[in-house]
Amino acid sequence: MKTIGLIGGMSWESTAEYYRLLNELTRERLGGLHSARCVLYSVDFAEIERLQVQNRWSEAGEILAAAAQALEMAGADMVLICTNTMHKVADQVEAAVSVPLLHLADVTAAAVRASGMRRVGLLGTAFAMEQDFYRGRLEAGGLDVRTPEAEGREIVHRVIYEELCLGIVREESRAAYQKVIEGLVADGAEGVILGCTEIELLIGTEDSPVPLFPTTRLHAAAAVNAALTAE
Ligand code: GLU
Repeated sequence: MKTIGLIGGMSWESTAEYYRLLNELTRERLGGLHSARCVLYSVDFAEIERLQVQNRWSEAGEILAAAAQALEMAGADMVLICTNTMHKVADQVEAAVSVPLLHLADVTAAAVRASGMRRVGLLGTAFAMEQDFYRGRLEAGGLDVRTPEAEGREIVHRVIYEELCLGIVREESRAAYQKVIEGLVADGAEGVILGCTEIELLIGTEDSPVPLFPTTRLHAAAAVNAALTAE
């Protein structure tokens, strides 16, 4: 079994999910007392979030690149950035290590393609929904990506930072997300990407009329797959 390296803490609410999923999926595959071999480097999210809003991405990238190097030194055979948004600096992180980076947008695009769908809605932070590093990478992966209109994007973004990253799950926010999802479906989305690692804490299959692509689960499953695949 290979060792999975996680750059987490963005936020730790979703990193805890990664840890649970990696272990559950490994046990499902191998049975018994098997669990995932992994190393976690968890950052202080307040520091990262400040750099995001100040548009100081390359400084945030340096922090994550150093974390990736620490993971490699600790024996990680692959690195995961446990947030969609911080894939904005994926190239910087990838360049800092010699082990592969399991890119979340690539994993997600592959899962959507495997389902036979092409036109999907995307929910995530404003950075992920509006900028090319994430949305563009999904499109380069063959998807036709739809995002909510401005008001919907603002609600989705605000709930992530003001609630979900703080462990707050509100019924009103679930209802607001359901409305945004309905809008995406009306716009032709055949499925919806939960493109922020905390959204799975709020929204499940029962909240959507179309299939969902939960990125935390998809990323964890791809990592377990890679860890259990022989060279
Ligand atoms: N975890 C979130 C994501 O997947 C947002 C937090 C962050 O800004 O990294 O995009």
